[in-house]
This record gives sequence, C-alpha cells and structure tokens, in this order.
Amino acid sequence: MTAKRETELLASVPERLFIGGEWRAASGSRTLKVYDPSNRGFVKQIADASPEDGKAALDAAVEAFPSWAATSARERAEVLRRTFDLLQERKEDFALLMTIEMGKPLAEARGEVAYGGEFLRWFSEEAVRVQGRYGANPEGTGRMIVSQHPVGPCYLITPWNFPLAMATRKIAPALAAGCTVVIKPAELTPLTTLSLVELLEQAGLPAGVVNVITTSTSGKVSEPIIRDPRLRKLSFTGSTPVGQRLLEQASQGVLRTSMELGGNAPFIVFNDADLDKTVDGAMMAKFRNIGQACTAANRFIVQRSVVDEFARRVTERVRGLKLGRGTDEGVTIGPLINQDAVDKTTALVDDAVGRGASVTIGGSARGGAGTFYEPTVLTEVRPGSEILREEIFGPVLAIVPFDNEDDAVRIANDTEYGLVSYVFTESLSRGQRMIERLETGMMGLNVGVVSNAAAPFGGWKMSGLGREGGAEGIHEYLQTKYTLTPNPF
Ligand code: NAP
Repeated sequence: MTAKRETELLASVPERLFIGGEWRAASGSRTLKVYDPSNRGFVKQIADASPEDGKAALDAAVEAFPSWAATSARERAEVLRRTFDLLQERKEDFALLMTIEMGKPLAEARGEVAYGGEFLRWFSEEAVRVQGRYGANPEGTGRMIVSQHPVGPCYLITPWNFPLAMATRKIAPALAAGCTVVIKPAELTPLTTLSLVELLEQAGLPAGVVNVITTSTSGKVSEPIIRDPRLRKLSFTGSTPVGQRLLEQASQGVLRTSMELGGNAPFIVFNDADLDKTVDGAMMAKFRNIGQACTAANRFIVQRSVVDEFARRVTERVRGLKLGRGTDEGVTIGPLINQDAVDKTTALVDDAVGRGASVTIGGSARGGAGTFYEPTVLTEVRPGSEILREEIFGPVLAIVPFDNEDDAVRIANDTEYGLVSYVFTESLSRGQRMIERLETGMMGLNVGVVSNAAAPFGGWKMSGLGREGGAEGIHEYLQTKYTLTPNPF
C-alpha cells in the first residue's frame, strides 16, 4: 500500500459540509481534525459545523421534502441503485478510507463496503414494493383504504465503528421511503460519510435530499435540530446513555425514533457443539472490527465439560492474530479507536483479573504511538466482574462456565441489553428452545455473524427500538394513513 495512494485518496475526500446541494465551509470557517488511530497521525482537516449550520441543513431537508416525497418510487430506487453501482467502482477507495480513519484491517473494511453497499441495493428494490390495503369494513357500510406516506425530514446520527454501513443502513431506507435527511457522522470518522454523499450527488440526487454536517460539538448541534418542530424522525446508532438522552429530546416533538443501541451479547457453547465450527464462530463474533461492534460476543458462556478445550483452542487461534495498521500485510487486528477505549479495556480486564479470572493470552495494551490492545482470552471470569455487565468494545474474549441449560439461559439473559445472542449446539430441539428463551432481537444459531441487509436488525430491552434492514427497515420511515369512504353501491 503506497503512501502516495493514501495521500491522493485523502486529497479527494470532500472537506466541507454538504447543505442544499452545495459543499460549503462551516460558519466562521471552523474546522476539526481527523486522526489515524494506528499511529495518531493527522489525516485531514474538515469543516466543523455550528448549530447555525445544523439549522441550515435542516432548512434544506425541509425545503426539499415535498418534491422528493412526490417523486416516483422508481426514480428514488434508481438513484440508490446508481449509488450502489458507483460504490462498486470505488470499493477499494472506500475500504482504504475506513481503514485509515477507523483502523479496521483492510480485508474487514472491504467486507464492510460489501455489507454497507447492500443497503443501497436492497432498499432500491424495496422502494417499489411499498403497498397499501383496500377493503370493506366489517359492517359493509364503507371502504377502508390504508396507505403509506414518508414521515418527513429525518435526522440520522451514526457511530464511528462502521462508518459506511451505519450511514447506508439509514440513508437508503429513508430515501427509498421518500424522506429527506440530515446526517451527522461521528467526529472520529466523518470522511467515509462525506465520500458517500459525494456518490449520491454523482448519482443524481436532487439538492437538499441528503445534507451532511460534521462537527466536534455533536450535542450542541444536534439538540436544536431534534427539538425543531419541522423534524419528524430521529434515527440514532450509538451508545445506550446517549440514546436515552436523545429520546428525551425527541419526546418534545413526539418524533418517530429508531434507536440502535448497545449490546452485551452472550455466546453460548453447549457440550454437544461442533467445536471446530464453534471456534470459527467465536473468532468472528469476538474479533471482527477489533471487538468494536454492538453485535460483538461479550460473554462466552461455555458448558463446564468443554470449557478447557474451548479455551485452549481459542487461545491458539488468538496466538495467530497479528496486530498492526490495517493496511499492513497480514494484519488481522487493528488499533482501538482511541486512548479512552484502551483505558476502558484495560480497566475491565484488570477488574476481572482482580476478581479471580485467568489470562491465557494477551492482557495488556501495547505501547507505542497507536491505540492498540492485545487480543486477550480470560477464563473463569467470576460473577460480579464488570466485564460481564459492560459492553467491552475491545478484543477481549471472556469465558464463564455453566453447568446446565437453565443455568446458561439465566446467565445469558442476566443483562439489561438484548441485541443479539449466539448459540452453538448440534441439537435441533435445544437450538429451538434457545430461540424461545433468549431475550434478544437477533440470534446466530451455529454462526458468528448475523448482519444482512435483508434481515431486520435491532434489539430488545435497552438495546433499542425499531429495525434496520429487511422489509421492516423502510417502514421506520413511513407513516400509515387510514381513510374511510362510503360503500360505493
Ligand atoms: P456514542 O458516543 O453514543 O456516539 C454515537 C453517535 O452519537 C456519534 O455520532 C456521536 O458523535 C453522537 N453523539 C454523542 N453524544 C451526542 C449528543 N449528546 N447528542 C447528539 N449526538 C451525540 O457511541 P459510539 O461510542 O460512537 O459508538 C459505540 C456504541 O454504538 C456502542 O454502544 C455500540 O454498541 C453502539 N452501536 C450500536 C449498533 C446497533 O445497531 N445496535 C451498531 C453500532 C454501534 P460524536 O462522536 O462526534 O460526539
């Protein structure tokens, strides 16, 4: 990977806000800097939006809404499809950009381009399938018509861990439904969203339909937008505490909300599991994205008779992981996003070890310029350890033994979160029981990754509200109208 290619790519990324179809500087020409977490090197300086810029972006989305809502579904579908095609042409650029600003290994970044792109294609197909209903009322005195309508201007807030997929997962269904949007990516990883919006512009998106604000003051810029009575929908992906705060703000305008929040995924291994498949699944569920995924397995709940063998095998696999900058050959684990993430991981591991857990591999941060934490395996993690309660968001595989199925279910459900669970068993009936008993919105049964554009992604309990992807995804941006007309006869 040449430094020249990176320099050229970064020079081509837009550095201004995109509002009303124009790339413009932030008010007061304020800027923020983006850094590479693998070496903390400076990457690029971009516009830093103020609350006035946020208002201008919402003004543009409000103005563009009536005409975008009135376009045909086919027209909207084709813009999304063209954007998908353009993304395929530029897929290597997008992968490299994500590796630079976020740190994930290049192979994983390529995977995210494929996954993130699918939302553009999927919702280009769903756009033309929004249906209503027509039928007689039970009394036979009238006809009931049920129709779907775009909810209106939307505010989309995305996190840093999947810079492309979290943006396409919101923008694509919103546009397919006929909504206009303001999107605000995380300060740490804004470049991918800016480049994505450039693709939408090239695909022929009318001015004002998508507006981007990048900012170092997300709270100050977002609150007035959320409290503005013209906004009709808030879609947020991020941490549960921030989501709760935003829900309070959204309550003022009784906004439609979608909340994709934190997780604390159990990964249950029964003693009848195929251990080869299980270890493959465990490596994916834990170390993909350097453990920084809401779907990352957080607690490995393993039946006592196979716990030593499982720990031995995952430790061996972890020994084969290679830490480094995501662009370097053979690297499988990149840096954590920043020093706070390293400090949090360190504190969780130290707490678990202090309460009696053993470290079979890893167990500390790696010094140097980048924010790296060694991939780690902990065994015999004791009840009460913080690592079992908190979302780790780092490359630490924490193992808790269990004795019987009831035990496994009790431990797995003992969390306020309910995003995803993973179960490994060769017993069909046990797998079916787990579908019924685990309190999560998604489940991987003998697989370590569940995400798919065609599936309804979302959580139970404090992991969120609403679904992204699947047939459900577009309905988050539609509102229902029921009309009664008299019996025509
Ligand atoms: P975060 O701190 O909650 O930030 C998420 C987004 O919210 C960022 O764009 C952030 O911008 C913005 N934000 C922060 N404070 C805000 C405020 N007061 N008002 C408006 N916006 C605000 O979460 P994160 O650390 O970036 O992401 C990790 C979390 O996301 C984890 O908990 C993970 O589980 C969750 N996540 C969930 C899913 C899912 O689908 N369920 C998917 C991916 C990630 P700034 O960073 O610029 O402040």
